[in-house]
Amino acid sequence: MTQSIVGPEIERLIQLLARLPGLGPRSARRAALHLIKKREALMQPLAKALADAAAAVSVCTVCGNIDSQNPCAVCADPRRDASILVVVEDVGDLWALERAAATRGRYHVLGGVLSPLDGIGPDDLNIASLVARVRQDGISEVILAMNATVEGQTTAHYITDQLAGSGVKLTRLAHGVPVGGELDYLDDGTLAAAMKSRTPF
Ligand SMILES: [Zn+2]
Repeated sequence: MTQSIVGPEIERLIQLLARLPGLGPRSARRAALHLIKKREALMQPLAKALADAAAAVSVCTVCGNIDSQNPCAVCADPRRDASILVVVEDVGDLWALERAAATRGRYHVLGGVLSPLDGIGPDDLNIASLVARVRQDGISEVILAMNATVEGQTTAHYITDQLAGSGVKLTRLAHGVPVGGELDYLDDGTLAAAMKSRTPF
């Protein structure tokens, strides 16, 4: 352990920043130094924003989204199509779909994917509450917006089995050529998936 050249308060700030995704010790030191230099313009407003968010944040008891209100803004919005449910792995995926304005439906956040190797089974995810919502809330379509990973697709299949016989229309996101993508640069799996899920022109 090298001797610290800063006081314990700054050292602790650096250590906490280093625990953020995408930041290692080096970038955490840079971020801490930047904050200290911009103490009034950035550091103090950030500290207040962190405290406010920590006090206000809550998990939506309907869909699992994170917001400062419960039910969340999406669930509380009467202009949303309540008959469409978009199932996502995590809140980050919900936010991504919202940024893209990709759907007028509502969401259900699973809180992860099935992963037997990591000991994550159906009871660790919000699957039972999804099945209950579909049965009770008059849902006509469930869109499975899982990641195109083995775990994501395994989870989608599991949910499909759980909702069999419910009469709900089950769809999933298309797999294939990204917008602006060039065929020559795509991997074999993506190209094969794109050919398989081709649509009428
Ligand atoms: Zn919600």
